[in-house]
Amino acid sequence: MSDAYGRVFNFSAGPAVIPVPVLEQARDEMLNWNGAGLSVMEMSHRGKSFLSIYESALASVKELLGVPDNYKVLFLQGGASTQFSMVAQNFLHTSCDHVVTGAWGKKAVEAAKIEGKVNVVWDGKATNYNQTPDLASLTFDPKADYVHVTSNETIQGVDYGFDPVLGVPVVCDMSSNIASRPVDISKYALVFAGAQKNLGPSGVTLVILRDDMLEKIKPGLPPMADYKVHAENDSMYNTPPCWGIYILGLVCQHWIGFGGLAAVEKSNQAKAKVIYDAIDGSGGFYKGHAVPASRSLMNIPFTLPSEELTEKFLAETKKLGYLELKGHRSVGGCRASMYNAFPIEGAQALAGFMAEFARTNG
Ligand SMILES: *Cc1c(COP(=O)(O)O)cnc(C)c1O
Repeated sequence: MSDAYGRVFNFSAGPAVIPVPVLEQARDEMLNWNGAGLSVMEMSHRGKSFLSIYESALASVKELLGVPDNYKVLFLQGGASTQFSMVAQNFLHTSCDHVVTGAWGKKAVEAAKIEGKVNVVWDGKATNYNQTPDLASLTFDPKADYVHVTSNETIQGVDYGFDPVLGVPVVCDMSSNIASRPVDISKYALVFAGAQKNLGPSGVTLVILRDDMLEKIKPGLPPMADYKVHAENDSMYNTPPCWGIYILGLVCQHWIGFGGLAAVEKSNQAKAKVIYDAIDGSGGFYKGHAVPASRSLMNIPFTLPSEELTEKFLAETKKLGYLELKGHRSVGGCRASMYNAFPIEGAQALAGFMAEFARTNG
């Protein structure tokens, strides 16, 4: 990419691309935030300056995602992976249901099993996780403490494309498609997401939970594992991830200014279409992993006819400054991740290269 900063087209699955205006603002405020005489990394989390940053980030998340008033928004640490355990530690009393649509759903099951009884209601293993299930055809335990779903599977690139509505409280791992399209938070009991895909830097994990869930928490948990402790202390039971909260707030403000999630979705659809069209128009040279009805707007895994051509494709794209296109070994081939801040010019450049590469190597 030939912008003023010499930035590449970053197709990384995470940590991932952050809006340039956010990086510019962070740069400008780096040594002296808002006249406070110090950087965000150096200020007390109990001081007036940081509290205003926290309040602003909180308000921005709520506005962007449309979080209803009966939900708490927490900024925690430990990544989405910690949430796999924490959800079960807090809410798994009798049994929970899990829908496994890919690698992250599988990890969530492994972590929850340590805490209690897990029913895997559906598992996409038979088709190597290339689709989401028809939720209406599944039978959930009406007595389950909750059902865990993954809205977008980052490695396999499969997405429901809508808010899953089920008869039991839904816990949703939204790490890789949060804020990528309008969302109805009221459909969920708890939503969590590591920030490093669509919301900012790694190190801060967004948790949104409905107030009534706080009454269902198991007693006797370690304080750091207890959502109630974090909720009662406004995410400041211990030192919060201050820098991450600051950037996350700026990222949310950026997308509010862009027109909100409806505008973000339009932009994401346009970008994804460019790559899916390149796959579908290649006469079978490229094959998408996900079935069309479950295609992700964020992560697009695809394969080439051979291992040799895949290596060649990756080497040539790397030279062009198209980074991190190598697919996960469980799927093979390539993966183009294009989160909210990824520019459409990058999708067009890759699609152009894909057509040329298929023509000369097909
Ligand atoms: C990246 C990712 C995770 C893991 O996040 P960490 O913050 O690294 O723990 C979990 N679930 C999904 C869907 C992801 O994309």
